[in-house]
Amino acid sequence: MTRTSPVVVIGGGQSGLAAGYHLRRLGLEFVILDAQVTAGGAWQHTWDSLHLFSPAAYSSLPGRLMPPQAGRPYPDARHVVEYLADYEKRYELPVERPVRVLGVHRDGELLRVETDSGAWRARAVISATGTWWRPFLPAVPGRGGSGVPGRRDFGVPRREVFGGPGREVFGGRQLHTVEYRSPRDFAGRRVIVVGGGNSGAQIAADLAADAELTWVTQRPPRYLADDIDGRALFDAATARRRALDQGRTDTGGVASLGDIVAVPPVREARDRGLLKARPMFTRLVPGGVEWADGARAAADAVIWCTGFRPALSHLAPLRLRGRRGHITTVGTRAADEPRLHLLGYGDWTGPASATLIGVGRPAREAAREIAALLGAPTR
Ligand code: FAD
Repeated sequence: MTRTSPVVVIGGGQSGLAAGYHLRRLGLEFVILDAQVTAGGAWQHTWDSLHLFSPAAYSSLPGRLMPPQAGRPYPDARHVVEYLADYEKRYELPVERPVRVLGVHRDGELLRVETDSGAWRARAVISATGTWWRPFLPAVPGRGGSGVPGRRDFGVPRREVFGGPGREVFGGRQLHTVEYRSPRDFAGRRVIVVGGGNSGAQIAADLAADAELTWVTQRPPRYLADDIDGRALFDAATARRRALDQGRTDTGGVASLGDIVAVPPVREARDRGLLKARPMFTRLVPGGVEWADGARAAADAVIWCTGFRPALSHLAPLRLRGRRGHITTVGTRAADEPRLHLLGYGDWTGPASATLIGVGRPAREAAREIAALLGAPTR
């Protein structure tokens, strides 16, 4: 069965909902297709103790402030899920789920969106599928290999890395951020946490009291000052984009501030001396890891907090992807396909677009451009 909607939004997480809010305000007809069974996008699947890195009011989508969570200055993921479910209901956003989009194709004047439950024809598509669904694992040498995984290794699809030689030599449990839930699963175990970003720091802090923790990072952890949180990250990202847009010197944006927001559990573990980072090991060995000087650490598990890539495989039929898997964009619009917009994946689709507070503005721009494309009046 093929249905028609002037606009199809792919993904019903925060980015898809923000797009829906602005499309609705402009009086456009649209549908949101979401692969999840229930509302909340990736926030439904994070580890139990995850804290937002900004207070509630600074983690809000357009139109409705996130209410504070009692007793928590930085709300947890459960609170975000409740907020998103309420947001969706409040604005009566037309979300169909679970519907997985398999591919977007050119079909004359229209785009055809193939799903696991029929197809849609649309004049414009907004892709808002996030990154959680494409965890990234760097290539790591096993016994006999050499060298630390470098940036050049980034971009290796997950299955190749897991299936490749080297990893299996370890023999213990290996998981990515997306599979980690709670320190209860690792009580008394020797665990190596890899990664110096917010996920690595939060998961290391989560494990520090219960597991025998080794935390490894490619460079020494860089904490933001304790009084700086996601609000400052948002301001820095916005200032950077503004500078670049105006041809001024790159301010360095978020990267100039540091990597890790010292949310209360991270700060506490750090201040208790439980978060001591070691440099990246050079290889996996049976039952552990080994550094360049021959030192070894035994481990029952390695948790790879090594980031994500944009989940864009459904756009492959459009043949738009360049190097590193990104699609060239002008604002949110795909440079080579004016009927397609991308929302929420990272700064390349709008400053701070991959944050709750940051996605509102690019969502509004995408909706306005689509209204213009469709010849609809904008308010
Ligand atoms: P998602 O939440 O991933 O939603 C995308 C939706 O699209 C999902 O429901 C998915 O099932 C669906 N989908 C995917 N593929 C398809 C398909 N082919 N067909 C149909 N549906 C599909 N941001 C903040 O503002 N504050 C924070 O504190 C913060 N902390 C973070 C902590 C972690 C560990 C991570 C990973 C991110 C954090 N972020 C934070 C960043 C960002 O807010 C989240 O990543 C957020 O989930 C992104 O929302 P999204 O809607 O773009 O993507």
